[in-house]
Amino acid sequence: TAKFAGKKGTSSERTFIMIKPDGVTRGLVGDIISRFEKRGYKLVAIKSLVPSRQLAEQHYADLSTRPFFKGLVNYITSGKAPVVAMVWEGKDVIRQGRIMIGATNPLDAAPGTIRNTYSISIGRNIIHGSDSFDTAEQEIGLWFGKPGELASWEPANWNWIMAEN
Ligand code: GDP
Ligand code: MG
Repeated sequence: TAKFAGKKGTSSERTFIMIKPDGVTRGLVGDIISRFEKRGYKLVAIKSLVPSRQLAEQHYADLSTRPFFKGLVNYITSGKAPVVAMVWEGKDVIRQGRIMIGATNPLDAAPGTIRNTYSISIGRNIIHGSDSFDTAEQEIGLWFGKPGELASWEPANWNWIMAEN
């Protein structure tokens, strides 16, 4: 069990999802939240903010040597629109979140995924999701690391969603 990302492979697993400024300015926040809600995932944290350069650079630190890094950080921090940062919890949510989001390049994303439905440009692909348990742990800690930022709660429909027999 990790401090932020819950227990891998259980219903307490958590992932970090962020709607990027293009998703916010295009009015997609409601649809994206709705997809995760309707699937059966639990919202445990949400905030809207214009990230500082430092936060954006830390978040994308593994890409710092890539040619698009500066443009990526500029886009996330521009303030033309905020980002919506969230933590979602539930069974297999890290992997399922990536599947719901679709491939990095929207032109390769499967039909019905968020990126396929709403985008055609790799530099404006609407949304971020953690790609592994370790990155989920890191990213949730980075964006929601202060005490009390993550809610522990049980939706009224949780037993219906989770039942397997
Ligand atoms: P993700 O995990 O699917 O978001 O993809 P990565 O972690 O590889 O890259 C992070 C983000 O950087 C992507 O979502 C894109 O916004 C951006 N990005 C990745 N590759 C490229 C690229 O080749 N060109 C540009 N302009 N942006 C890229
Ligand atoms: Mg990534």
